[in-house]
Amino acid sequence: MKNRGILIVLSGPSGTGKDSILRELKNLRSDFEISVSCTTRKPRVGEIDGKDYYFLTKDEFKQKVDAGDMLEWATFCGNYYGTPKHELEDRLDAGLNIILEIEVNGAEQVIRNSSEAVSIFVLPPSVRVLKERLKNRGLDSEEAIEMRTKEAEREIALAENYDYVVVNDDLKECASDISKIIDSEKLRIIHRKNIIKEVLKNERVVSR
Ligand code: 5GP
Repeated sequence: MKNRGILIVLSGPSGTGKDSILRELKNLRSDFEISVSCTTRKPRVGEIDGKDYYFLTKDEFKQKVDAGDMLEWATFCGNYYGTPKHELEDRLDAGLNIILEIEVNGAEQVIRNSSEAVSIFVLPPSVRVLKERLKNRGLDSEEAIEMRTKEAEREIALAENYDYVVVNDDLKECASDISKIIDSEKLRIIHRKNIIKEVLKNERVVSR
């Protein structure tokens, strides 16, 4: 009997390294999938439709929102981003652990509307370090960096609403912390209901 998978929300300000953390986490364990989001932004070089994102027009995106097909959605830098509901429920029921890597406004919606979601906020070591990382990426103008830093300060204040907070100072340590969170969450009763039945039925169970 399969236990229901864990729905994990990973969020934090832009530039805290959520993508790199997930790549590192993939090296540590393979028992999770990253949800593929919908977006209206243009694909970057090398990005594949259906793998990195579902790339939609604004009209297509709005139709999905109106049809109730989005678990959450938000605008970010002038584009829409959202988590499609299709398959999510089935995959959780099939026992898959799913990570949503999303910005804070979308994360807030999931935290508010889903009692089962486990939320993790990624903090930068300091706002100054975050600003330096944004500068080193070389993607933004001075003005945009100032704006993003201000926005990050506002977002960091929301970290209190999350279940867990990790700091991305050392990438490996940060991924390892998230891996430990997944291990503990797997032991929660909501994911272990079947084990009780199995023990009572005298089926020998293993600890994990
Ligand atoms: P990027 O355009 O750099 O891939 O992503 C920009 C931001 O959008 C990141 O902070 C990323 O976490 C967030 N994002 C990606 N997918 C989703 C989504 O489905 N919903 C929300 N709310 N944010 C998302």
